[in-house]
Amino acid sequence: MENVVVIGGGIAGLTAAKTLAESGLSPIVLEKSKEFGQKPCGELIVEKFYGFSIHDFIDDDSSIERRFDHLTVNYCGKDYVFNKSYIMLDRKQFEESTARSAMNAGAEIRMGTEVHDIKRCNSSILINNELEAKLVIGADGFNSIVRKSAGMRDMASAFAITAEAKTDFSHPFLFIDPEAIIPCGYAWIFPKKEGSNVGIGCFRGINVTPYWKRFSERMGIEALHLKGAPIPISLPSRTYFDNIMLVGDAARLANSSTGGGIASALISGLLSAKVAKDALENNRTDENFLRKYEEEWKKLIYKYLFRCYLKKKLFWEFFVNHKLLGRKILRSLF
Ligand SMILES: Cc1cc2nc3c(=O)[nH]c(=O)nc-3n(C[C@H](O)[C@H](O)[C@H](O)COP(=O)(O)OP(=O)(O)OC[C@H]3O[C@@H](n4cnc5c(N)ncnc54)[C@H](O)[C@@H]3O)c2cc1C
Repeated sequence: MENVVVIGGGIAGLTAAKTLAESGLSPIVLEKSKEFGQKPCGELIVEKFYGFSIHDFIDDDSSIERRFDHLTVNYCGKDYVFNKSYIMLDRKQFEESTARSAMNAGAEIRMGTEVHDIKRCNSSILINNELEAKLVIGADGFNSIVRKSAGMRDMASAFAITAEAKTDFSHPFLFIDPEAIIPCGYAWIFPKKEGSNVGIGCFRGINVTPYWKRFSERMGIEALHLKGAPIPISLPSRTYFDNIMLVGDAARLANSSTGGGIASALISGLLSAKVAKDALENNRTDENFLRKYEEEWKKLIYKYLFRCYLKKKLFWEFFVNHKLLGRKILRSLF
């Protein structure tokens, strides 16, 4: 029987695997894609978050595409500039280098391995009818099969699409305008070393494609590799069960007022691995012991996520659509 299996080799899963391996365990990661970095993502993150820095999680600077000291929010045609340190990640590079570190420390990563079946058997979990684990870390993103196997219901989601553009820009831009851009959402341009990551997202269940077409035409953007995915925008739900912890998007830990989920994926990956190590050492993989994981992430990020949830309701549904946003409110969003 395996000690710990991580399902999903994205940001949260690889961070968990690396932390587990560096603490002396030998986790197995099951990732359905054959290549890393396939998840659509804007790749922008604030440099410092929840008492951590992005540098606590990256091994080499090749994962950093660019650094910025400000962001411009264009709200209904007017520019607001916000000074803060932002990092443009190369997500593929980040995932590859985190996976390398995890493997060097003793993790096994099985690419192209989709998990389609999870069963509880006595005090362990049986995966795809072949792999038995004392502990499972569910890091399989929005459509998490681990989450479903733990009996969790689906919750509210936003939808966003992203693409690569050849056009270069000096710094990151967000565009908010319910009439000219998209109702209840925003478009972005995040510059990379070459070209930019561009996209659009909406906090309501509408088809974003027509808005994307209008935005890209207006900005003269010729976009490649357009792809989209849902983003959780509910309050976080329960994240620990007998033999199971949920992390990142599978745990619904994204910031529901911006859709940003990289920071909480990193932190939850890290914390789940620390609790997993303790649980295995104490031979306690029951929910009463794993509760500690939820207590840990709640201490760090729950208040913030709760405020974001309230902001989402108030800002996107009311202030933005009634064109009532001012600098102060915008600043607190981004
Ligand atoms: C268009 C878009 C733009 C975004 N932009 C930003 C941004 O700029 N900044 C930010 O902070 N956040 C952004 N986000 C959110 C961010 O991408 C997520 O919050 C983050 O990726 C969550 O990481 P994760 O590891 O939990 O899940 P994921 O990144 O979704 O990783 C899950 C992994 O599990 C694998 N998997 C899924 N199912 C299975 C299975 N059954 N078996 C095996 N493997 C499986 C997947 O292939 C994937 O590799 C964006 C999201 C979208 C959709």
